[in-house]
Amino acid sequence: MADAKNTIADTEKIYDLLILGAGPAGLTAAIYGCRANLSVLVFEQMQAGGEIASTDRLDNYPGFPEGVGGAEFGQLLEQQARRFGAEIRSAGIKEVSPAGDLQKVLTTQGLFYGRTVIVATGTIPGVLGVPGEEKLRGKGISFCATCDGFFFRGKKVAVIGGGDAALQEALFLTRFAEEIVLIHRRDEFRAVPYLQEQVFKQPRIKILWDTVVKGFNGEQQLEAIAVENVKDAQTAVLPVDGAFLYIGRMPNTTFIKGVETDGQGYIITSAEMETSLPGIFAAGDVRRKFLRQVITAAADGAIAATMAVRYLS
Ligand code: NAP
Repeated sequence: MADAKNTIADTEKIYDLLILGAGPAGLTAAIYGCRANLSVLVFEQMQAGGEIASTDRLDNYPGFPEGVGGAEFGQLLEQQARRFGAEIRSAGIKEVSPAGDLQKVLTTQGLFYGRTVIVATGTIPGVLGVPGEEKLRGKGISFCATCDGFFFRGKKVAVIGGGDAALQEALFLTRFAEEIVLIHRRDEFRAVPYLQEQVFKQPRIKILWDTVVKGFNGEQQLEAIAVENVKDAQTAVLPVDGAFLYIGRMPNTTFIKGVETDGQGYIITSAEMETSLPGIFAAGDVRRKFLRQVITAAADGAIAATMAVRYLS
């Protein structure tokens, strides 16, 4: 990587605040940062709104009594951040490191410097690590029902997991799939009661309790899932056209070294979103916290940006 001094000369400007991730945490931070007169640049690898943009509906965010589409909510957040002057660039983050008093952020679109950084990169989907999973990813195995559900019209699919995401997306898939097998490793769901009630009412969702996935079968395309009952060790092979994995998520932090994290890799922050590195804040799902929801992500973003303002002054 080039020397910090040389590269600063090459960059157009040094930003007061670089925000990594344009989900609810990052874009709320952008709104607050811009309104405090900071120059703000936001990086996003996928689409504005982050993870929520690939969710069918957001039903528990206050102020939307009928709920709001995830993609629409993401666009509204983006519009609001841009209205106050935030720049948003499509780029992935490769590395964050200190450069004197500044922070250096290497992205897929080049090198950028900021006086402060807010890490709001959220999480990435967890994987099972079973045979066939890697090979058939994108060939019947998906992590996004909203993106891929359409391809399974009239077909049989499996959804793996028992949390809010698995149940919400299984319900979404009833719009397309003929049959949905919800495979969960225990005999009760972790998801909120509201989602459980909807799932139990839905005749096209069949539940396989106490069942784990042992492997995914198929050469060019997923054809079946090998499963095992954890109570009686009975095995079976379920023919399916698609499988959607919602077994929890992992923090997206591989680009930052030296920051204090918990045992699972979530960034540890103070209540004011300070990380263990000066000038670097974290907000949203990427940090260790009690409740990972859009509303708490937005609140984190507001606090992180306010702290960035304080840090700069
Ligand atoms: P989650 O709540 O961590 O649930 C993960 C599910 O996958 C659990 O049921 C877990 O089983 C299962 N699981 C984990 N590892 C597994 C493995 N190796 N094999 C088989 N099953 C495995 O994750 P999530 O559903 O993605 O939700 C993440 C966060 O986003 C949560 O805070 C959730 O509330 C939030 N969220 C909210 C909404 C909403 O409010 N509508 C929607 C989506 C997500 P166990 O239960 O046995 O541990």
